[in-house]
Amino acid sequence: MERILIKETKEKVGEKVKVVGWINSIRDHGKLTFIDLRDRTGLVQLVGKELPKISNESVVEVVGKVAKRPEKLVNSNLETGGIEIQIEKFEVISKAKEIPIPLDTDGYDIEEGTRLKYRYLDLRRERLTKNIRIRSKAINFIRNWLTEKDFVDIETPIFTKTTPEGARDFLVPSRLQPGKFYALPQSPQQYKQLLMVSGFEKYFQIARCFRDEDPRADRAYGEFTQLDIEMSFTDQEEILKLTEQLFTDLIKKVFPEKKITKEPWPRLTHAEAIKKYGNDKPDLRKDTKDPNELAFVWIVDFPLFVKQEKEDFYHGIGKAKYAPSHHMFTAPHPDDISMLDKDPLKVRGLQHDMVLNGHEVGGGSIRIHQAEIQEKIFKLIGFDDKQKKQFEHLLQAFEYGVPPHGGIAPGIDRFLYTVLGERSLREVMAFPMTAGGTTAVMDAPSRAGEEQLKELGIKVTESRDKKK
Ligand code: ASP
Repeated sequence: MERILIKETKEKVGEKVKVVGWINSIRDHGKLTFIDLRDRTGLVQLVGKELPKISNESVVEVVGKVAKRPEKLVNSNLETGGIEIQIEKFEVISKAKEIPIPLDTDGYDIEEGTRLKYRYLDLRRERLTKNIRIRSKAINFIRNWLTEKDFVDIETPIFTKTTPEGARDFLVPSRLQPGKFYALPQSPQQYKQLLMVSGFEKYFQIARCFRDEDPRADRAYGEFTQLDIEMSFTDQEEILKLTEQLFTDLIKKVFPEKKITKEPWPRLTHAEAIKKYGNDKPDLRKDTKDPNELAFVWIVDFPLFVKQEKEDFYHGIGKAKYAPSHHMFTAPHPDDISMLDKDPLKVRGLQHDMVLNGHEVGGGSIRIHQAEIQEKIFKLIGFDDKQKKQFEHLLQAFEYGVPPHGGIAPGIDRFLYTVLGERSLREVMAFPMTAGGTTAVMDAPSRAGEEQLKELGIKVTESRDKKK
């Protein structure tokens, strides 16, 4: 007999069916035992006599007859609440030990480290299951939408060289070239620009990015996912319109209960935002208590540089008075180029930020495609020859016919966390790291074996090693 899904049982009144799943709850009424069985499609009530002793969350296989429930026992909260299955055969496939964390709550009050240690169980929680399924739906929608618009989904390397975006890099030692390291990409920024040189014109990727920066509620430690987009022969207007259309369609399809405050999305210059709201990610909701309101706003005309104090010198970026406001590949506003030499802090960049309910959910820019301007920016941000050399490949690529190009990268975790009104980014990720940088379930980072280190030509110094 083939297994049927729990949601299908309600159509099978009078028939014998086989269902499988987890014991969600058991109510022992003496002679009769009632069980709620759960599979990926929902819950159904089973009823039987003289069943073996069994714990919640055990996996069972049940054969029985689907019977209509008497009118007064119908449970209208349950999709299958009009029926129950009268157990004829009950087989325990796998017993569950006592579950270390409650699963029938929203889980917010459980210590997060414990939740992440048992993440595979925590994910059985209805709220998390929902979040992860919605995430899959949203990503699938985005993939189809962009593919239909002629975008090509291209994977770029994880083992790469540094792409500074303002955070520390994660390094991976090379065995074949001892003493040398790969860096995990902070974003696919350079690769997507190289793909424009290759002539793809429209690229996207659901890309994993790696940044060793301090965690915050709206910033995951270690890795996160972004929808990376790049286009050739484009301008800021086209990038904004395309992104706006994509996310508006996505909301309507995947989150139909949500209302977008204003369409088309309002736009503010950086200066206006600062003047009016005191920050560059204003929350433009009319009613911040309404969980279904989504207020998008574009912020444009950012200053190209921010002033950098000595203590801010950030990793991989030069030691100079100026640091890029977005990143060093962002094009200056064409009207302001002459000011690059005179008054760099007055130069506007062709940067755009996508803001939702007070969170920056995406950013991008039109890129520099002229080697001379890129050189100038490198100089202004204080790159020495060695640092410049790290980007030689990009400047070299630009010597072989580079189209003007630009793009954007909305954060997938960031976006979902904001739309779902979640408490942290980790609530929309299947296996996030703890705030302390330990991986869920598997407890990395861990020490490497002597042999491994020897092969890599790495010596861990005593003092560092002792810390952990
Ligand atoms: N690479 C940028 C980021 O991760 C996005 C972009 O400029 O397209 O923020």
